[in-house]
Amino acid sequence: MKIKCVLLIICLLSTAVQANDKSAVSARGIKEPWRGVHLGIGNKKAVEQLTSVVPRLAGLGVNVIVGEINYGYQYKSHPELARDNACNAKQIKNLLAVCRRHRVRLIPQFQCLGHQSWSKNTAPLLINYPEFDETPGKYPDNEGIYCRSWCPLHPEVNKVAFALMDELIEVFEADALHVGLDEVFLIGEDACTRCKGKDKATLFAKAVNDYYKHIAGKHKIEMLMWGDRLIDAKIINYGKWEASANDTAKAVDLISKNIIICDWHYELRKEYESVPMFLKKGFRVWPSSWKKTDAAMAFVDYSKRHGNARMLGHLNTTWGAVKINELPTFKPLRYATESFK
Ligand SMILES: [Zn+2]
Repeated sequence: MKIKCVLLIICLLSTAVQANDKSAVSARGIKEPWRGVHLGIGNKKAVEQLTSVVPRLAGLGVNVIVGEINYGYQYKSHPELARDNACNAKQIKNLLAVCRRHRVRLIPQFQCLGHQSWSKNTAPLLINYPEFDETPGKYPDNEGIYCRSWCPLHPEVNKVAFALMDELIEVFEADALHVGLDEVFLIGEDACTRCKGKDKATLFAKAVNDYYKHIAGKHKIEMLMWGDRLIDAKIINYGKWEASANDTAKAVDLISKNIIICDWHYELRKEYESVPMFLKKGFRVWPSSWKKTDAAMAFVDYSKRHGNARMLGHLNTTWGAVKINELPTFKPLRYATESFK
């Protein structure tokens, strides 16, 4: 997983609302299987490369692209939060036009809560607003931690995050937003005066529900998130990366079943028990693989055997393992798209 995140950073240099199972099945925009690819689009070059490759991806059968942009957009509400080489509205509109011409749904992603640093590099939010940090003043140079988190209880943080989400939803003309939320290890920390001693699952669920209220409640669009913090590592033996060993998993019963769970697993396994687990609870699940072709094939096949109408299809992540212009040759993607035609 650490490799995944290194690659992503390189690439990026980048109320619970009532469940409504019926509307969940007939997802807005796409009624056929979701044949998706996820990639970082947090800089001008990546957006332009993706724009040029969309026709070939559509030719393969890809009908959804999740573009992780984070701080790689020239935000008008918070220009201080844009990374160097962040893309602009015109580039996004060009990408969107090509996607629409080829009937590909474009879903932006903004990584919330965790993943606010990598290695010694802290992401723009906590550089500009260090008071939002869950562990303020701790871990100089990010030594000894995986990634920084923002504090889900800071009274001002969502105002900033929502302003960025609003801009992304507008410029992408989005009917869905992916909010990340994977690998949140720093939550409910003693270093945070607001969160110290609080139940981590409740804190995590509050963050999810806050975002869901904004995205599905205010904007009336769909929300996607990664599923790892909702899987109990004590029950499903995935390990601490692709499942939660830090007491967040009970949040799975505290959030809306209308959220789409991107259930990522990148290794070859006999079973991927989280797929039926999430389905049984009523979620829509979008199983997500990475670069190991045998693992992706096993996960696709398992999902088809254990899926139901709420198992949406397959999402291939890339994490920089394949160049954007070589995506149409990416074997895991070719297998998954072919399997869901
Ligand atoms: Zn806190």
